[in-house]
Amino acid sequence: MRIARFTTGEEPQFGVVTGDLDEHGQLSEDAVIVALAGDPLYVGMKVLDTEYRLPDVRLLAPVLPRSKVVGIGRNYAAHAAELGQDVPPEPLMFLKPNTSVVGPNDPVFYPRQTQDLHYEGELAVVIGRICRDVPPEQATDVIFGYTVANDVTARDLQRGDVQFTRAKGFDSFCPLGPWIETDLDPQNFIDGVRVQTFLNGDVVQDGSTADMIFDIPTLVAHVSSVMTLLPGDVILTGTPEGVGPMQVGDEIEVFVAGIGSLTNRIATR
Ligand code: MG
Repeated sequence: MRIARFTTGEEPQFGVVTGDLDEHGQLSEDAVIVALAGDPLYVGMKVLDTEYRLPDVRLLAPVLPRSKVVGIGRNYAAHAAELGQDVPPEPLMFLKPNTSVVGPNDPVFYPRQTQDLHYEGELAVVIGRICRDVPPEQATDVIFGYTVANDVTARDLQRGDVQFTRAKGFDSFCPLGPWIETDLDPQNFIDGVRVQTFLNGDVVQDGSTADMIFDIPTLVAHVSSVMTLLPGDVILTGTPEGVGPMQVGDEIEVFVAGIGSLTNRIATR
């Protein structure tokens, strides 16, 4: 099931997106969004009898993390190598503030403090319930679903700062969407799901989740051994090789097979 958050100009609502997804992440013409009563993370799935055509709504970030977005650094060996770094012996964690989250088609603002703004296309895990010390074999029980993320990074600031907080934490540095897919098994990602990024339509990243160093159950176990996870918290699972710069006016699209496509444009404030 695809859970989206959307607005028709009024208060944001949640809904279920129907229709078939093609190999480019585009929905079939007959797709609609069926409204839900409240946030399904907290009230469960209560389907209403109101539905909208997708062109008549604006999709928003499908989740607003209540407490945190946890990033995982260098989880693909080829990406660690392109940064001139070794693969970490255990998952390398950092935090992005929830204020960095924006939705599909929202602008990503190019901060004046950087001259090297990068995209990082990633698979994102949405946590469904409060948990800590989750054993890897129980990770599926605490995962609500999966979405697409762009872990936008000011690469020059990341190199210069000891912490990643500034480089990863600006407002609009965490586009999420277009919806949360709840029906995938983590084994799909271990077997391999394609993660691609397109800059102005040209493919710049083309990876497979099979190349993750630490798989999703391991990441959930590791993060939850450090900090309690809350419903709506998000874990970014790392980016494949091919990261690179974006300029004002660029269109950046991240596609994860079986989930969908997330597009944003780079803007000045
Ligand atoms: Mg990243």
